[in-house]
Amino acid sequence: MIAKKKRFLGNTNTLEVHDTYNEKNGCRLDEIKLEHRRWYDTLAEAKRDRRYDNCHWCLGGSTR
Ligand SMILES: [Zn+2]
Repeated sequence: MIAKKKRFLGNTNTLEVHDTYNEKNGCRLDEIKLEHRRWYDTLAEAKRDRRYDNCHWCLGGSTR
């Protein structure tokens, strides 16, 4: 578990976004480097910022 600043966490390295309210072991949020973490209040906000794909584990609907 990592300290949560907002609900959604984007990994700017892999361009995956996570819902930290639904965190699963497969998310491996603790392995995201600090400089690759970007926090968002909503999924829409995240998707406006970067071309994120949904995390398979916590959000589903991955398009990769
Ligand atoms: Zn996830």
